[in-house]
Amino acid sequence: MIRRNPFIANLKAGYLFPEIGKRRREFAAANPDAKIISLGVGNTTEPILPHTNAGLVEGAKKLCTIEGYSGYQDEGLPKLREKISEVFYKGKFSIDEIFISDGAKCDIGRLQTLFGAAAKIAVQDPSYPVYVDGSVLAGAATGWDKTGYAGITYLPCTEDNNFFPNLDLVPRDSIIYFCSPNNPTGAVSDRKQLTALVEAAISKGCIIVFDAAYSEFIRDPSLPKTIYEIDRADLCAIEVNSFSKPAGFTGVRLGWSVVPKAIKYCGGESVNADWNRITGTIFNGASNIAQAGGLAALDEEGLKEIRSLTDFYLGNAKIIRSTLEKLGIKCIGGDNSPYIWAFFPGKDSWDVFAEILEKCHIVTTPGAGFGPAGQGYVRFSAFGHRADVEEACRRLAAGFI
Ligand code: PLP
Repeated sequence: MIRRNPFIANLKAGYLFPEIGKRRREFAAANPDAKIISLGVGNTTEPILPHTNAGLVEGAKKLCTIEGYSGYQDEGLPKLREKISEVFYKGKFSIDEIFISDGAKCDIGRLQTLFGAAAKIAVQDPSYPVYVDGSVLAGAATGWDKTGYAGITYLPCTEDNNFFPNLDLVPRDSIIYFCSPNNPTGAVSDRKQLTALVEAAISKGCIIVFDAAYSEFIRDPSLPKTIYEIDRADLCAIEVNSFSKPAGFTGVRLGWSVVPKAIKYCGGESVNADWNRITGTIFNGASNIAQAGGLAALDEEGLKEIRSLTDFYLGNAKIIRSTLEKLGIKCIGGDNSPYIWAFFPGKDSWDVFAEILEKCHIVTTPGAGFGPAGQGYVRFSAFGHRADVEEACRRLAAGFI
């Protein structure tokens, strides 16, 4: 019989969101009249806006014409890659440095094949789970205990360091996963902090995998929306990004990665050439319909739609954060990101999760699920219909604490 991949057995039991789903179902079964509202997950709820949607429809229509038909296109439509370079990077990258994908999470999973099981990994703690779980599946991390996985260096991001890690902790020659605006904390790193990150990566021989999936939520013009706003980042940083949250494409699936040609391994080989090889080998490109939608989302009309959709969720975030603050709960985030990170010092975040579910019938996400330094915090997500967010906030104001 076939032996199970031993790396799978290294995964800590239960991915965070299935565990939350299980607890929600148990609560619903025991309280059949409860109208549960979720402020827990990062799934989008609002419809795709008309201009972007028309792009998707046109993309589908074209496929039944001889002139419009297209098949495989491994790295993505050249027009879309050019547009991404122009809109997000001021044309800094050539199209062969931009790879279109079926989403940022999928790219993060595949990126691990570049570095293999021997890679040293450093992550912000707390962090979006796929950086850690993907590293475990790739064999680069093992042996879970309460303090985390062996093979992973956790870089605590807490109130004490203003949610930016102590870069002295980053091991030499490691892959640093870094997310800004951050999921789950909602913190956004400023120019000075990201400059320090890039300089640390270069001096320690590291590669940064910079996850900018929430960059379109940034409203403060002084905050960098991409790592490539920082000098010399193209020597050490790969960036992943996505249409999921800004354009409502969580179900459509479209993202991209930027792998600058200047990044080299220690042996001088090109990381870009390997990524090209990997995407062509185990991935056959994103849907051409999704890419047509992506092109529409990035023209003048589409960018206005991205602004209005992200404004909507930021409006939700403002309502949630002000409700919590009126209850005396300290928070960060929600101003340049769709997540609010609420402080419950001295409490177990799963207990707070349970208390909010029991008293208010609201699902949140316990901070400890994102890493050891998330203990004592709870994440509120601003992805929801406005009426649900308002109702959830009424319940919090009336029934919590
Ligand atoms: N990166 C971060 C930080 C996320 O929070 C998410 C989704 O919640 C993703 C990536 C997933 O992006 P995609 O839908 O493009 O796979």
